[in-house]
Amino acid sequence: MTAIIIAVDGTAASGKGTLAKKLAKHFGFPHLDSGALYRLTALGVLETGGNPANAEDAVKAAKAIDFARASDPAIRTDAVGAAASKVAAIPEVRAALYDFQRRFVEQPPGGAAGAVIDGRDIGTVICPEATAKLFVDAAPAVRAHRRWLELQGMGIVRDEKALEAELVARDAQDRARAVSPLKQAADATLLDTSNLGIDAAFAAALALVEPKLKGLLTAKPRG
Ligand code: C5P
Repeated sequence: MTAIIIAVDGTAASGKGTLAKKLAKHFGFPHLDSGALYRLTALGVLETGGNPANAEDAVKAAKAIDFARASDPAIRTDAVGAAASKVAAIPEVRAALYDFQRRFVEQPPGGAAGAVIDGRDIGTVICPEATAKLFVDAAPAVRAHRRWLELQGMGIVRDEKALEAELVARDAQDRARAVSPLKQAADATLLDTSNLGIDAAFAAALALVEPKLKGLLTAKPRG
């Protein structure tokens, strides 16, 4: 049976990860943060003293990633985010990470009826046949402020304007790459969370996704 896939793409620090996690919890589906695959690859390159823009170094790291480290806070730094955007522009890196993501959408872990996956190319390349597709965005200043607050909570104080410039630069790099660029799929719905708090953004996401899943769910959703 084809799995029910909810694809959540969007810009950096748009809140897509938080929304994807909440949607997964609501429907009782496993969640894959595909950005973690690129971040783990970047971390692998940096830890071995390699160059994230070098295809040989990056492919070697992509083939050796340890997904058990996906919750390692070391992959969440802005430096790793910037390096992730560099490795992500290398076609062979994307090819090396493709099968893992396809397996997740074709056979969601634990025999679940569906899965939620967030990233940049989920609705366009990884799972063009997804049941529901969202493209999450927010004004750069809003995203920078949320990221600033998040970092502050981790005891890291950054200049908000510098953060905004980094986010905008990373999006530009992700949009401009030749392979699997950051792009809203033609059949994805845009969710702009600039003026929405977490609860309102989740309610809006659910209102967009639920109708697409109608009749496909047998068990009652949780949460
Ligand atoms: O989503 P996150 O900010 O963790 O992603 C880090 C980087 O990984 C992005 O800037 C992007 O370059 C890359 N990425 C990607 N395709 C995905 C997910 C992330 O190219 N599906």
